[in-house]
Amino acid sequence: MSLLQSSQLKIATAWAAILLSGAGIGWWNAGRHVRELTGQVVRGTTRAAIGFDAAEVRQLGAAGDAAHRGAVEARLRKFKAVDPRIRSIYLLRIDEATPQGVPLAHSGAAPVAAAETAARPGAAAAGLAHVLLTGEPTVEGPLSDGTSDWMRGWALIDDATNAPPRHVLGLDIDAEGWRTETWRAGFEGAFYWWILFGLPFAAWLVMRRQHEQREVIRNLSEAMEQSHSAIMIVDLEGRIEYANRGVCRQIGYGRRELIGREWGEFQTAAAGAGATGEMLATARAGRPWEGEWFSRRKDGTTYPVRGVVTPVKHRDGSLACFVAVYDDVTETKAREEELRDARDAALAGDRAKGQFLATMSHEVRTPLNGIVGFTSLLLETPLSSEQREYVQTIRMSTEALIQLTGDILDFARIESGKLKLDPLACDPRECIEDALDLLAAKAAEKNLELLHRVAPDVPAAIIADGGRLRQVLVNLVGNAVKFTERGEVEVSVAVGAAAGPPAGRPSAERAGHGPPDAAAAECTLVFSVRDTGIGIAAEHHAKLFRPFTQVDDTTTRRYGGTGLGLAICRNLVELMAGRIYVESQPGHGSTFSFSVRVPVAAPQQPNHDLAGLRFALAIGSEPLRRELAALAASWNAEVVTAANAAELAGGSWDVALVEVTETAARDLAGKGSTADWPPDKCLGLVPISLPNDLRASLRAHFRLLVNKPVHHDTLFGLLSGARVNAPTGAPPTQFGFRVLAVDDNATNRRLIKHVLGSFGCTVRLLEDGRQAIHELTANAGDFDVVLLDLHMPEMDGIAALREIRSGQAGSRAQTMWIIALTADAREQQRARAMESGVNDYLTKPLKLQELETAFRRLRSERMARKR
Ligand code: ADP
Repeated sequence: MSLLQSSQLKIATAWAAILLSGAGIGWWNAGRHVRELTGQVVRGTTRAAIGFDAAEVRQLGAAGDAAHRGAVEARLRKFKAVDPRIRSIYLLRIDEATPQGVPLAHSGAAPVAAAETAARPGAAAAGLAHVLLTGEPTVEGPLSDGTSDWMRGWALIDDATNAPPRHVLGLDIDAEGWRTETWRAGFEGAFYWWILFGLPFAAWLVMRRQHEQREVIRNLSEAMEQSHSAIMIVDLEGRIEYANRGVCRQIGYGRRELIGREWGEFQTAAAGAGATGEMLATARAGRPWEGEWFSRRKDGTTYPVRGVVTPVKHRDGSLACFVAVYDDVTETKAREEELRDARDAALAGDRAKGQFLATMSHEVRTPLNGIVGFTSLLLETPLSSEQREYVQTIRMSTEALIQLTGDILDFARIESGKLKLDPLACDPRECIEDALDLLAAKAAEKNLELLHRVAPDVPAAIIADGGRLRQVLVNLVGNAVKFTERGEVEVSVAVGAAAGPPAGRPSAERAGHGPPDAAAAECTLVFSVRDTGIGIAAEHHAKLFRPFTQVDDTTTRRYGGTGLGLAICRNLVELMAGRIYVESQPGHGSTFSFSVRVPVAAPQQPNHDLAGLRFALAIGSEPLRRELAALAASWNAEVVTAANAAELAGGSWDVALVEVTETAARDLAGKGSTADWPPDKCLGLVPISLPNDLRASLRAHFRLLVNKPVHHDTLFGLLSGARVNAPTGAPPTQFGFRVLAVDDNATNRRLIKHVLGSFGCTVRLLEDGRQAIHELTANAGDFDVVLLDLHMPEMDGIAALREIRSGQAGSRAQTMWIIALTADAREQQRARAMESGVNDYLTKPLKLQELETAFRRLRSERMARKR
């Protein structure tokens, strides 16, 4: 309970006490009045009764003694004359047998009461009964007959020695107005009490209230006086009525100098009369005015203030005055200025960082791209083994640098929240196979087997950022290959719950193979990358996913790396609403698993059927043999397995997949003889890094060469005979496109020319957007596709794109297929390019495979259009 409430309760209690006690006093006083009346009757009756002795009254009963009765009645009348209020006095004999009161004598008025007493001995005779019983005088009433009120007293004439019948004296005394008098007596009692205590209490309350109000006013004026803010009361004409110390302190005037002067005089000319006018006009309209203005000091200097001008109204709603409360904001302004400068500097820094990232992306990666491209070309020319080693070192170092700049860029983008996913329909199998393809050469170098396993219920297409999914897989597979010396690396994917690391078993297996959540059309895919490498001690598991963390220094020395890869993976996986974790033991390999929650674009169609096909597998590596045998069996093929081709001889099968290692290929090439198998029924399974000359010599022994790792769809296509021209180890597909390539960098142009040549394309090379526009305007019909660098002097790619798409280079160019090519891997750059109308987007360094995929897309597009 608040202090105020408790004090109000106390006051209410005091008032209640005064009222109740006053009422009590009134009640008591009314009672006293009634008792007094009764006392008077008793005393009158007793006095009258004393005047008669028992013998003389008894004698009244005797017949014929009229003189005695007359004398008694004369005495009764005398008694009556003593008090005018006495109505009558009478003597009665009480007949015990009846019992009835028999009138003997009376003062003159009819002894109504006696007759009444005799007729109704009950209630009316209560006093009479009492007097007969106790012998004590008693009172009845007030009695009423409807027209008047009276009291009746009874006294016994006989004493104890007298034998019955008994004689009593009755006296009726007027009690007219007794009720009013009783009320008045009660009210007077209460009234005096209330006056006595209520008035002083009320007066005390009023004084207390006044004291409190004075206290509030005193505190208020002290608060105004001592307030650090300037407080001013201004009358309706704008003259100062009151100014507190804050005002005086701020402007240096004494209070007396201010009172009565125009407030506008103390504001600057700029914000003077006008500003004051505006403030007061707003306040006059009944609204507070809030804002900043300049105030003028006594020495003429000005300073900025910020405050509120509020209208003060009388009770009737009319305006009384205005109150202005304001503060000197010189320091605040200075701080705001500083903050603004700091924010501008931070924004500039941010822009500089963005610029730096763009520069890193473009200026650093472009030359690196050139180095990688040309070292690759150099490696295809005759070199001494020493030179080859040097060039390979250059290429590896450059690739490492490109990887590092890519990682740093990615990490910076993720950290600043700028990395946005670009979800599109993609096939999880393809993502895995693409990632494995990228690392196939490295794995082959180390003689590691790359395996992959896709659970049958994994959807055929999901909506996800395929590029980022691939990036995570490439990172994990890259690490697995890096940290494994012997054995295999296996990537698997299954539909499952996004559970944490299970105890003991890889989560993708434990997660089970439940169908995707069809109702929600979403599913959780769990990818796992298992290796048989060096493994990681449990105490390092938690820190692996932190940026720039490696297990120990020897890792850096021995394997290189920056410790960014897993941190990027974790961030990307979290962006895809999943989590990543590791299970590993030193010496027993590692399994990195991650989940992603994705919408299902197309469920798996169980339409792969090779029933009746006898498929032979001659593969040295047992895990790979098992993987492919299980795959073919899932397509209902009849599978025969052998560790080498010799074991297949004589068997009956329709098609065989024969693994040929580089050594075996050299042997075959060296022999120059025919192989032990029918070439038209055999497919050769070769490492991706197998040199072209060996591939050429193998072609005589196989219908087709298939690169490791085998893409499942490719294998199905080959086995079903549906895809006779499946990708093989043969030279790149010959697209025969006529390409207009635009790049400002000479090195890049040479590289593009070479790469396009290897795809059987003709190319016209230009250096900037302006030239491209001219060329397209004149000869758009000479080209099938434009490869356009986005960063160029004179006219950059985006500007050129916009002109082309707006039709400024002719209608043919307007619909031309355009592939953007840039070293700027930033997401917004890609978004901008897509918005400006590119059909495809490739980042540098230009990868043969990506360009091939882009050209395939173009080819299917053209075929679709022809249809
Ligand atoms: P980087 O490989 O560039 O050093 P990562 O973040 O990819 O950075 O990996 C961090 C560390 O985790 C590695 O340096 C290595 O010590 C350890 N690591 C990652 N993957 C494996 C693996 N498959 N086997 C053993 N150690 C691994």
